[in-house]
Amino acid sequence: MNVLILGPGGREHALAWKIAASPLTDRLYCAPGNAGIAQEADCVALDVADHAAVIAFCKANKIDLVVVGPEVPLVAGIADDLEAAGIKTFGPSKWAARLEGSKGFTKDLCKANKIPTAAYERFKGAAAAKDYVRRKGAPIVVKADGLAAGKGVVVAETVEEAEAAVDMMFGGGLGTPAWEIVIEECLVGEEASFFALCDGETAIALASAQDHKRVFDGDKGPNTGGMGAYSPAPVMTEAMNARVMDEIVQPTVRALKAMGAPYKGVLFAGLMITKDGPQLIEYNVRFGDPECQVLMLRLKSDLLPALIAACDGQLKHFDLRWSNEAALTVVMAAKGYPGNYDKGSIIGGLDEAAHVDGVEIFHAGTKVDGGRIAANGGRVLNICALGQTVREAQARAYAAVDLVKWPEGFCRRDIGWRAIAREKT
Ligand code: AMP
Repeated sequence: MNVLILGPGGREHALAWKIAASPLTDRLYCAPGNAGIAQEADCVALDVADHAAVIAFCKANKIDLVVVGPEVPLVAGIADDLEAAGIKTFGPSKWAARLEGSKGFTKDLCKANKIPTAAYERFKGAAAAKDYVRRKGAPIVVKADGLAAGKGVVVAETVEEAEAAVDMMFGGGLGTPAWEIVIEECLVGEEASFFALCDGETAIALASAQDHKRVFDGDKGPNTGGMGAYSPAPVMTEAMNARVMDEIVQPTVRALKAMGAPYKGVLFAGLMITKDGPQLIEYNVRFGDPECQVLMLRLKSDLLPALIAACDGQLKHFDLRWSNEAALTVVMAAKGYPGNYDKGSIIGGLDEAAHVDGVEIFHAGTKVDGGRIAANGGRVLNICALGQTVREAQARAYAAVDLVKWPEGFCRRDIGWRAIAREKT
């Protein structure tokens, strides 16, 4: 099969690494890719927002399957346009991608189908929103509808903070003024990510993970796209996985099918595990980044037939094998990230680092510069490792990090701390 992956980052490198290892893969392309992906696939300079150009490339290169990495092209309807052109595509339709594209849509779907989620209201104007905040009191959570690259959520500790968030979102503080916001109850518990593969009718569990969103050690500093992750999440026991499938994922897949928008692709549930059980915080309509990297390290089965089965509605009899080992990834970012940072610094030591036992390195934002690897983004490298325990995976990942010669980069030194604390007890 000829496969095209869409996306530029570490998630797409991990997918490319896994798909390249499939005996079913003939040619593998990635648009736009990066310097690491180029070791697995032919990187092509396609504008992913130009659906006609992507379709023309697929036809010219006899692409049998397109795998869409990020959410933006999915919400823009790339899966619909490719499918309409007769090209098999892994990823949900524009309609189904509203699970990530619209928080209001997802909350209403949860309410209508009794899927556990924080109590909420939707608002189109600031006055009513602030009135609700004052009635409910703090802590309370304010969310802008629509994609906001992780910046559209304020967990407010005080009523004043929540009111300021309402004004900020309706006032255009996120770029454009929010047309709608959701205000919801603040959930208390431990967060985890859960991934399922869906074919429109059947969903099968993939695995769980936990990530670290804050930029500095001790979960301090501003939010980022993710500074590290590990899988499985210790809080996600077999029983908890089963509850999430029964109470959250399956009812969602049934509801979307009943609405005439069957969900095909990977469903990423952001969860709060509360004392009363799992609650849905949000859905994403693609693999997490960097969660995908640790999932791919633990997946023993061939990924490609699973993606095809999801496209073809054939997941019912499908089973995937997972390593019992833990996987952990440390993100190396350019100094200054998530604020301003420089591009172009040279990175050395990657070959030595990749030789550490159990280690795999995925590139998140790199390019080739005169035969050397140069930083080309905020998040630049994912140093990943497998281990018998999270502690062992962490030790291996940091042993590799210490061999990377990149003075212009930094990373957190405590990825996995929560899981390791549990292992100790
Ligand atoms: P979201 O973009 O919806 O995943 O929200 C980003 C982050 O905000 C989540 O990962 C949580 O840490 C936090 N968050 C969102 N909603 C809630 C909630 N209802 N209660 C507590 N924390 C929340």
